[in-house]
Parts: sequence; C-alpha cells; structure tokens
Amino acid sequence: MNGVGVLGVPFDANSSFLRGPSAGPAAIRAALHIGSANAFSEDGLDLSSDGRLVDLGDVAFGADDVAGDMLGIEQAAGRALAQGGMIALGGDHSITAPLVRAHAATHGPLTILHVDAHPDLYDALDGNRNSHGSPFARIMEEGLASRLVQVGIRGSNAHQREQAARFGVETHEMRSLDLSVDLRLTAPLYVSIDLDALDPAFAPGVSHHEPGGMSTRDLIGLLQGLPVAPVGADIVELNPMRDVQGMTAMVGAKVLKELVATMLR
Ligand code: MN
Ligand code: MN
Repeated sequence: MNGVGVLGVPFDANSSFLRGPSAGPAAIRAALHIGSANAFSEDGLDLSSDGRLVDLGDVAFGADDVAGDMLGIEQAAGRALAQGGMIALGGDHSITAPLVRAHAATHGPLTILHVDAHPDLYDALDGNRNSHGSPFARIMEEGLASRLVQVGIRGSNAHQREQAARFGVETHEMRSLDLSVDLRLTAPLYVSIDLDALDPAFAPGVSHHEPGGMSTRDLIGLLQGLPVAPVGADIVELNPMRDVQGMTAMVGAKVLKELVATMLR
C-alpha cells in the first residue's frame, strides 16, 4: 500500500442519545492541520509526503432516508477501496456496518479489531436496527467477519452478552484487560475505533461517557503493535459539541496518523 485515502462520513442520524458526531470529520481534519504538531507518525513516517494521506472528501447525504444513506456510505467506501486502502472518519458507529460491507466485498470475510466501551451488538436499539448500538450484530449476521475481537468493553448488558455468545465474539473486557496478550490478529484485518473506548479523562468529546477506560497510550500501543497491516479502518463517535478545547479531536488526529503509518508499514 502506497497511500491511504481518508473518507469523511458526517453522519449521526443513528445516534441514540445525542447528535453531534456528524461534525467529527471536520474537527479531526482541523486538528490534523492545526499547526501545533507536525505531520510525522511516531515511527518517523512523513504523512505530508505526496500521496501518503489522500483526503477523499466527505460522503454526501440527502433527504431523510437512512437506508439510502447506509447504501451511499457503502458505495463511497467501495469507490475508495478501488484506489487502495482507506480510513473513514465518523460519524456515529452505525457507519461501520456499510463500511465493512464494502471491505468484505473487496477482501472477503475480515478479522475485525473493535475498540470500544460498548459491544454495539444490539439486535435493535430503540427499534432501530441501523442504530450506532447495532452495527456489529449486522456484520456478524451477514457473515462479513470471520472473527470479531472487541477490546475495552465496559458497558455491556445481558442482551449484548447473549449476542456476543451467539456470534462467538472474542471479548477483552476493560476490567481484566491485558494488552500484552496476543490477540492473534490475521489478515485481512479491519480496525474500528470508537473514541469512547478511551477514558473520558483522555477523550471527553464523545456522546457516551463511560469512565474506567483505556489511555490514549494504550490505544496507540495497540495500533503500533498490530502484527499485520489493516486493509481499512474507521475512527468514530467524536462529538465536537462535547469536546474540551479540541482535545478529543486531537486524539482522533493522532490515532489517524498512527493508523496510516500502520497501514503503510
Ligand atoms: Mn462506544
Ligand atoms: Mn461504538
């Protein structure tokens, strides 16, 4: 892989509690170019170098048609994938279902590393099967993932535990998280990062504050230690309306840089 496309997905119509993540892509782009940091990944890759990080713009959304919006995300991702690897900037977590549909169509069933406070395995949330609480139920039902490995979980419930058992999800709960454990991640690997996996102390700009989470360094270490380069990824659930001094947007930009470096490794 020579370059990674970055696709903005300014969509939050499937959020259950607060709107706001539709402003996420613009906030992460602004943080990436804010001028207080350089464009290098920690391992020394210059991401401002020609073609390494290609901004693909934003997915356009039309009228009040969630099914059409989901299809639009899948098609935009499919076009991006025809050019090479991509990272999507959310948006709420519902966008991961159509993104993974596009990746699985290109690469076949994926190993998915899903970093989140929540398992997002609801059959439906508030009657919405496209909810940001449901993408991984759809992904597993549709056979898009050969393995789903969840890290950072601390906000599950009885229904989602049943769903995790039913789908054979490999859950690494926050209360017993050991990041030295080999997650046995294999290609083709897709990485989905919900920023609420991080402790609200590190990432306050999310809709669902769930205390007791990962540190920013835990997440960066996890990404830098990936045994295979991901074919695609997303960074979701940044809610700039909840952010403090843009610090969570900066975390999003940092994670984006480290993900790009991992994909280009
Ligand atoms: Mn979450
Ligand atoms: Mn999520």
